Amino acid sequence: MYIDDFNLDPNWCVIEDDFDLSRVRHNESVMALGTGYMTTRASFDEGFSDDEQNIEYDRIPGNVSLEVVPCKKSRWGTFIQLVQGKHPFWRTGIVNLPYYLGLEVYADGERLDMENSDISGYKRWLDMREATLYRTFVWKTKSGKTLNLLFKRYMDPNLRFTCVQKLKIKAVSGGAAIVVKSYVDNDVRTNGFDKYTSRETGFAGGSVTYSDITTNLSDRVVTLSKMICGKPAEYSELDLGRRVVSQAGFSLAGGEEADVFKVSAEICSLYFSAENLLDEGLRIIHYCERAGEEKLHRAHAAHWAKNWEMSDIIIKAGDDEGYCSQLAIRQAIYHLFRARSRDPRALNCAKGTTSEMYLGSVCWDMEIFFQPFYIYTQPDLAKMTHLYRFNMLAGARRSAKSMNYAGARYPWQTDRYGDEVCPMFEYADHEIHISADIVVGLWHYYLNTLDKDFLYNCGLEIIIETARYWAGRVNKIEGRPGYHLYGVMGPDEYKPVSNNNAYTNFVVRENLRLAGIVAKMCKEDAPDIYKKVCRKISFDENELSLYNEVADGLSIPRDDKRGVIWQCDDFETAYAEVDIEGLWKDKSRLFGSYTTQEFRYRSKCLKQSDVIALMGLYTEAFTKEQMAASFDYYNPYTIHDSSNSICHNAIVAAAVGRPDTAYMNWKKSMDIDFGSLPRSSDGIHFANVGGMWQEIVMGFGGMVSALGTDVLTFKPCMPGQIELISFQIIWKGQRLRVTVSGGELTLQNMSDKELSFMVYDKPAKAEAGAEIRVSV
Ligand code: BGC
Repeated sequence: MYIDDFNLDPNWCVIEDDFDLSRVRHNESVMALGTGYMTTRASFDEGFSDDEQNIEYDRIPGNVSLEVVPCKKSRWGTFIQLVQGKHPFWRTGIVNLPYYLGLEVYADGERLDMENSDISGYKRWLDMREATLYRTFVWKTKSGKTLNLLFKRYMDPNLRFTCVQKLKIKAVSGGAAIVVKSYVDNDVRTNGFDKYTSRETGFAGGSVTYSDITTNLSDRVVTLSKMICGKPAEYSELDLGRRVVSQAGFSLAGGEEADVFKVSAEICSLYFSAENLLDEGLRIIHYCERAGEEKLHRAHAAHWAKNWEMSDIIIKAGDDEGYCSQLAIRQAIYHLFRARSRDPRALNCAKGTTSEMYLGSVCWDMEIFFQPFYIYTQPDLAKMTHLYRFNMLAGARRSAKSMNYAGARYPWQTDRYGDEVCPMFEYADHEIHISADIVVGLWHYYLNTLDKDFLYNCGLEIIIETARYWAGRVNKIEGRPGYHLYGVMGPDEYKPVSNNNAYTNFVVRENLRLAGIVAKMCKEDAPDIYKKVCRKISFDENELSLYNEVADGLSIPRDDKRGVIWQCDDFETAYAEVDIEGLWKDKSRLFGSYTTQEFRYRSKCLKQSDVIALMGLYTEAFTKEQMAASFDYYNPYTIHDSSNSICHNAIVAAAVGRPDTAYMNWKKSMDIDFGSLPRSSDGIHFANVGGMWQEIVMGFGGMVSALGTDVLTFKPCMPGQIELISFQIIWKGQRLRVTVSGGELTLQNMSDKELSFMVYDKPAKAEAGAEIRVSV
């Protein structure tokens, strides 16, 4: 059997042992493939007999975390981040593109269908080492034949817009008449709506099927597929309107096997000239055909091997039952690579482009949750994020102007034009911390890469323009000294309009202070660029005194006696107590599904940890006592309706020396997308995925981010279940490996320069190439 050809490594393969209809949509997200330009959900090649993908419905804006979308057995989805279209209720967002995976299989006239066919020996696995999805099983047909099938699929990042599929069929007992139907189908919807204004299908010669659609934003997308049978076959073509089929029929004698190879390309006018899309697509298809499956796979696997060489994390753990830290962290890293945008015109959404739920729009998740992975392991790719924000400055200026402010105010959720797409006013108007998160993010990038070229040519302009916005957004209040930010939604979205939110005030203060710091740096280091930027945005350094004054005047509400940092002014008295345990009957459902929004907005329950997010980001800015007191205060109120909440809880728990609590949070993070209870039907939770990397490196490994220290510093806090962690990072241009195990931290300096570092408060040095052990 085909399965005997594989040796599945449980630390590298995400394995599905049975076909389970209730997990189909979940695993479509978890096993999605992608190139960094395009992602395709892991739908079954042959589909189900009755599973329409063209259902239309009104998706009305609301709290996405609590939303229940009309359910199909599977949810087809191919997305190119940059291809966006309009939706009647959700403004502009990604488009679910024509489906190209279709590969129906018939044996003696019977259609293969995972739900209804007689299947045994089923296994599907995503081998993350080579980012390849496999599936094999034995099919007993109604005609009494036994067939063994193996499906294989991958998307090579270097080929950007292609997908390769391979099918092997072996007649194990008795011969069978086989028909394989390969199709392209554009009868799909995005959030229940058809975003195509024109759609065509046809045949482009040599049994190539194609779809040609135009979105309601006038982007043209051409999708082509070609199926090639390794055995002489009879080909025919079938035009079913929005689906076009290329069909191959052949016979298999008992014991005989056949290969089917399918290549698809989905290309659009945002990357290729609109007039030549069909020709360009055919060129790609023919290139793949000539190269052949084996060569294509070798190149693809080599690309992924390189990814892992730099970014793999090794974990040895005696995990609690039902958990595998090693596999889970690799799943997180896999997705961080799979989804990584390589185009500064478009970045990842909160679903890592595995569904259209978050419209493909870019949120604070980018800078605060996923970006650290790229900053410390792939600095070249990390730059895309900040270039993207620079490209979106015009939109941020429009947003500020539309609200009567100077400068730039970034949207809460940004589309490809830089405009706001969040349709709900609470978030769009009040969740303003995003503008400062963008500045914190680019400063974080600079601190670790020392990329002055970016900082001066692009960063400075973003920093000054956002500072101008903040200077207009603050208030002076009679009877209260300093400056205040009123009417703010912090990261905790269940407090929509609060005053002096601690998280927001802190990051805004950073933003304002950086205006002076970066302006000075640029003026001294690169006076010509400085002059150019000053001219471009009419910047006069006299502005800086106001920014510094506002920064100094913004305070963080706190209770020094108890050591608690308040989420906002009067947090303790302004919101009602809430009986969380009494209300929350079933913890496998979100708390929000037991209460109304009206209730959540007026009570102390927190959707996500707000102060803890701040402390997780800036561990060095608070004392251990403040962190512990705040953690203990907020923990009972934090219901984690947002998956973004967990990672900072784990990091802060580790920072205050509570390894068991850190591990408990780590398990919660693993559960969200990679645990046993499916939660990712509508896409993975990408902030949590980025957060998982931070939990290991910054939580258990205790690495202080460059936002908190100039000298590389580690303060490990290893839970009893975790025996060893080992990861590589690039710190200010120097590559190194850190291993924490058995009460020791080993630092291997992989660079050609000496490296100074700290373990807690002990200074140490590693010569170029040397390995240094420090007890922890
Ligand atoms: C969270 C936000 C987050 C968004 C996208 C919401 O549920 O509260 O913090 O940006 O999801 O992940």
